[in-house]
Amino acid sequence: MKFYILTLFPDMVIQGLSTSMIGRAIDAGILCIEAVNIRDYSTNKHNKVDDYPYGGGAGMLMQAQPVYDAWKSVVERIGKKPRCVYVTPQGSTFTQQAAKKFATEEELILLCGHYEGIDERVLEEIVTDYISIGDYVLTGGELAAMVVVDAVSRMVPGVLGNQESGFAESFEGNLLEYPQYSRPEEWQGKKVPEVLLSGHHKNIEIWRRQQSLLRTRERRPDLLQRAILTSEEQQWLEKI
Ligand code: SAM
Repeated sequence: MKFYILTLFPDMVIQGLSTSMIGRAIDAGILCIEAVNIRDYSTNKHNKVDDYPYGGGAGMLMQAQPVYDAWKSVVERIGKKPRCVYVTPQGSTFTQQAAKKFATEEELILLCGHYEGIDERVLEEIVTDYISIGDYVLTGGELAAMVVVDAVSRMVPGVLGNQESGFAESFEGNLLEYPQYSRPEEWQGKKVPEVLLSGHHKNIEIWRRQQSLLRTRERRPDLLQRAILTSEEQQWLEKI
C-alpha cells in the first residue's frame, strides 16, 4: 500500500513512521510512505503558503493553490485519483472499522492542515473523506495523519508478524481484548490466572471471551451495546 502525505512538515511524518513495524514493512516493500512538501508548490517568492482569512478572525489559513498543486503532482504522477483524507477535528471520528476500510485501498492521500486550517475551496475540490482522531484540537494534522497511517498499515497483509493478531484485538466485534500475561508466573505476589496455565484450549477461549465481555462492560459500555452476544452470554453478564 502506498501513502502520500501532503504536509508542511515532511521530516516529522517520515521520521515518525520509519521505526518499528511500520519501518520494517517499508524496508520489506510492503508499504511505501511518501511525504509531499506543500511548500515546494508555493508560487510566492518567499515560499509562503498561508494568508489572512477573509472576514477577519484569529490566525492564518493555508491557501488553496499550493495544496491543490501538491495534490495534483501526486495524481498526475500516478495517473489516478486515490481517496484523499483530510485530517481535521471537523471529520468523523477515526475507528478500527475505518482503518480496515482504508487498508483495502492501493493508495491513500492524507492531507495535513496547519495554522487555522485550509481554504475551503480546495477541500471541496480534492477531499473525499474528513477524518478526526478525537474531539480535541491539535496544532497540525501531522500527528493525526501518522495515527491514521499506523492503524491502517497494521491491517495491510504482511505488515504484522503474525497476521492473526491484527484481527483478534480490541474493537473486533465491538469488544475490548481480554487481559494478557507473560512470564514469570508470579510477579510481586500476583499470579497469572490458573486457567491460562492449564493448557486446556477450550477453557482458555471461554475465559478470554468472558474477560472481554467484562472489560468492555466496565470500560466501554457504549461498545458493548453494539456487540453481538449469545443469549447465554447475555444471561451470564446479567448475573455477574
Ligand atoms: N480552525 C480549525 C477548527 O477549528 O476546526 C482547527 C485547525 S487546527 C489548529 C490545524 C490543523 O490540525 C487542522 O487543519 C487539521 O489538519 C489538524 N487537526 C487538529 N485537530 C485535529 C484532530 N482532532 N484530528 C485530526 N486533525 C486535526
